Amino acid sequence: PTGPVQRVAPAQAAPSSAARRGGRIEIRGVRKSFGDLEVLRGIDLTVEPGEVTAILGPSGSGKSTLLRTINHLETLDGGLVTVDGEVIGYRRRGNVLHELSEKEVLRQRTGIGMVFQSFHLFGHMTALQNVAEAPRRALGVDRRTAEDRARALLARVGLADKADEYPRRLSGGQQQRVAIARALALEPTVLLFDEPTSALDPELVEEVLSVIRDLAEAGTTLVIVTHEIAFARDVADTVVFMDGGVIVEQGPPEDVIDHPTHNRTKGFLARVH
Ligand code: ADP
Ligand code: MG
Repeated sequence: PTGPVQRVAPAQAAPSSAARRGGRIEIRGVRKSFGDLEVLRGIDLTVEPGEVTAILGPSGSGKSTLLRTINHLETLDGGLVTVDGEVIGYRRRGNVLHELSEKEVLRQRTGIGMVFQSFHLFGHMTALQNVAEAPRRALGVDRRTAEDRARALLARVGLADKADEYPRRLSGGQQQRVAIARALALEPTVLLFDEPTSALDPELVEEVLSVIRDLAEAGTTLVIVTHEIAFARDVADTVVFMDGGVIVEQGPPEDVIDHPTHNRTKGFLARVH
């Protein structure tokens, strides 16, 4: 069922600059169907600023769809998502939410970075250009400033010497680190990762996880869909286990990973461990 999204939480005043501090995500009663398939069946989740949330679950459980609702890559059939109190993708009128214009959605997305399994770099641009492009285009930053900042970000992900390489000349791990630097270039308050290491050869996984670990320690709000259970236990403040479009279990890793209470969580962990 598509249509107006019912209001389920009170509005809060919030700044909207991409450079704002914060990154508090509230997901309330979120529902999403594709045709007859109900993929998200009422999701409630709060991520506090600076927290790391790892989302685990079997293939098809709705993890990517949930992540995509946070920056309005999916419309909702019910519920809402707010980041620092601002409703994502919709404007309230009375009790009903109306979808924002593309321009307004793009503005919101500058504060919410996303890194995909398959990098999505621009093949005709160098690493430096990939990182400098978005701030130039989205924020109107001048070329010199954007490139200086891109150089600093590439150094931060360990690629200071690769600034002028094209993606095809980089390993998968290096490409993913460029993608992370690119996401950071807009100074997001929230960074979303959808299986950032799933497309990588095993020997390249750790270099990417290490960069994500650094971001976590720097206090960036992170939501990470991952199958790397040991990494999730190590880095996450909260672990969420999804199955069949619902959150089956959530809590600190010592509970959800080490002492799961639900049979579905136990079964999943037994299979992937
Ligand atoms: P996960 O990331 O946990 O593997 P997804 O959120 O990608 O799960 O998908 C959940 C379910 O929704 C799957 O059955 C998938 O096939 C379906 N799905 C995802 N996106 C679409 C879409 N755009 N159209 C139709 N079905 C979709
Ligand atoms: Mg997925």
